Amino acid sequence: MIDISQVLQDISSSELHQAIQVQTKLVSLIREILVREKFVELLPVIISPLTDPLTDFRVRGEVECYGFKYQITKSMIFHKQMAVKAFPRIFCFSPNVRIEPAERRDSGRHLIEFVQLDLEVRGATREEVIELGEKLFSNVIEGIKGLAGPELTELGRKLPNFTPPFERITYEEAVKTYGEDFELKLSSSVKKPVWLVDFPIEIREFYDREYGDRPGILVDMDLIYPEGYGEALSGGEREYQVERIQERIRKKGIDPEAYTIYLKLAESGLYPSAGFGFGIERLTRFVCGLGDIGRTRLFAKKPGQFTL
Ligand code: AMP
Ligand code: MG
Repeated sequence: MIDISQVLQDISSSELHQAIQVQTKLVSLIREILVREKFVELLPVIISPLTDPLTDFRVRGEVECYGFKYQITKSMIFHKQMAVKAFPRIFCFSPNVRIEPAERRDSGRHLIEFVQLDLEVRGATREEVIELGEKLFSNVIEGIKGLAGPELTELGRKLPNFTPPFERITYEEAVKTYGEDFELKLSSSVKKPVWLVDFPIEIREFYDREYGDRPGILVDMDLIYPEGYGEALSGGEREYQVERIQERIRKKGIDPEAYTIYLKLAESGLYPSAGFGFGIERLTRFVCGLGDIGRTRLFAKKPGQFTL
């Protein structure tokens, strides 16, 4: 049963009220910065026959319309690759539904319905989107301190300025230093955001591009928050040549039938591109200094929870 009194209590939390005020300003700052950087904003795709596989653990959300099966968007990755055929620089505030394992309910970082700022740049390298990410992040932090001073004071949050460039650590170095389960340890040990680069092929999806001269390693990255807040964004360069995409799908053990539409699109010619997805609720949590991601939106849904 849905606990209505809990929902009513949640929506009257003063911490949440401050966080939503901050979030409103964060979203507006991000839009302003990206429009200045010559991006166009796309409206989100909510259902499609094609979405991110996220094969590791997340079950498909499906809806049937007119006898056809649509999937609920887990990420707009493939639509972004198509969109850069139309516009060179695109972004979207994209709602994603991912049925995360119930054990993540109290992680403080996971919701099953969240929004990512998803962006993609035609012809870009990882280097270029890293630079863009640093500029966006540092400008957003600087901007929000000016725009949301009273809210941040009320929340007791003091933010420094984060001046780029941010340091980088490879996945391999991170495992060596902190062990397999390194995300929070790495995050707790840094004072500035840090780029985690060069993931092994086994733990990412088939669309992140593999180095031509380093088999098994991907030209991708995550940005990790300082202060133990964990992952901020994930992205990288994309595979765009149909033969390579087919090979990557095969290596993942995925039935290519499931990607017929995507493979047809790739056959028609995709551009090289790079981009990233940046979680808005996690950004709000970090900026506001909150322990619980549930305080960053109305009607927050934690893994394993049934609520409004
Ligand atoms: P991903 O491509 O899976 O890394 O997702 C892109 C970004 O969305 C992540 O870096 C997070 O900031 C955010 N994100 C991913 N999964 C969740 C989740 N379950 N709850 C909240 N934010 C998430
Ligand atoms: Mg990620």
